[in-house]
Amino acid sequence: MTVSEMNKSAAAMDTFNRLKSEGFGDLHFKVHAATGLQAVIAIHSTKRGPALGGCRFIHYNSSEDAIIDAMRLAKGMSYKTAIAGLPVGGGKAVIIKPDHLTDRPALFRAFGQFVQTLGGRYITALDSGTTLADMDVIAEITPYVGSKTNMGEHGGEGDPAPSTAQGIFRGIQAVAKYKFKKDSLQGLHIAIQGVGAVGYLLASHLHAAGAVLSVADINSEAVERCKREFGATVVDYHSIHALECDIFSPCALGAILNDDTIPTIKASIVAGAANNQLAKDYHGKMLRDRGIIYAPDYAINGGGIIHAAAKYFHHSDEKAKQLIEDIYTVIYTICERADKQNQPTNLIANSIAEERLG
Ligand code: NAD
Repeated sequence: MTVSEMNKSAAAMDTFNRLKSEGFGDLHFKVHAATGLQAVIAIHSTKRGPALGGCRFIHYNSSEDAIIDAMRLAKGMSYKTAIAGLPVGGGKAVIIKPDHLTDRPALFRAFGQFVQTLGGRYITALDSGTTLADMDVIAEITPYVGSKTNMGEHGGEGDPAPSTAQGIFRGIQAVAKYKFKKDSLQGLHIAIQGVGAVGYLLASHLHAAGAVLSVADINSEAVERCKREFGATVVDYHSIHALECDIFSPCALGAILNDDTIPTIKASIVAGAANNQLAKDYHGKMLRDRGIIYAPDYAINGGGIIHAAAKYFHHSDEKAKQLIEDIYTVIYTICERADKQNQPTNLIANSIAEERLG
């Protein structure tokens, strides 16, 4: 065996070891020279049902980075769908964005063929870098697509943001009930970072429930709208996390809970829509040590995936609504267990998801 062959063999071993230690089902690769498609589909778990997860279309420095990203995201989807109580598993696709893209629809058609070969074990959806138009192209080739412009007779509203916002609202009610022993949000001061699709709708729910709002966004029109419609106070987006308030709600960026921000947070609750809020797992403990209750992002922001699954599987609206309502119970249970077991909430959420994944 040459040195190069030995290196390749060691890299393959690493991938297999990683698959094994992360509890993976399978990993699929596709190259389609004519369109420049280089894609990976990672299926973490199909124990609860077919693996559902978005298709990411971004630049990667190496194929190794793309594989690791697909695996990390697929595992996250298993946990998110399990905690949401959905009958689906976790998967993710990554298409390495080529430097020169000549025919985008052709590339997504080739990707559609790749999805089709898996016979429904993986259902694709929107993610960073893909658009509803891309999903429509994929849907010309395969039925295994969870988000499209028109979801047919079961409704054209592919936008998950209203369901996500409703779930966050219920999660905030749960954690406020746990912390302040109050059923009402009346008079609580809530600071929302990012009032885009989800943040704006959340602000609307919170305003209707009597909360006092502060908002920050890099988009001045977005904050002005909240000021006008909800009487929100506009604050600096660099420092909203450090505002004197009851609840800090990150609805913009990932990794906002980190070594620099956590010591400055004055709220006693962090609960918002943003994905991957903790820069590192240990930041969950840092929040707990400061007496701040953190509503784990993937447990509180599952409304959107519940919506997507309902559209795809033609679940009744009632069933989807019930699962979104259940976010209240999930978040409340996480708070209780965290105190009982003296563990950070992010680890409690993981253990609940792992119980459900068997
Ligand atoms: P969005 O792009 O519509 O809104 C994000 C908002 O954050 C924008 O208004 C943007 O201007 C603002 N923003 C960006 N950088 C900022 C900064 N430094 N400070 C303050 N504001 C900033 O996105 P969205 O759909 O509302 O999603 C918000 C977050 O929730 C994202 O992290 C997303 O991944 C997550 N999420 C969304 C959904 C959904 O259904 N849309 C579901 C689950 C999770």
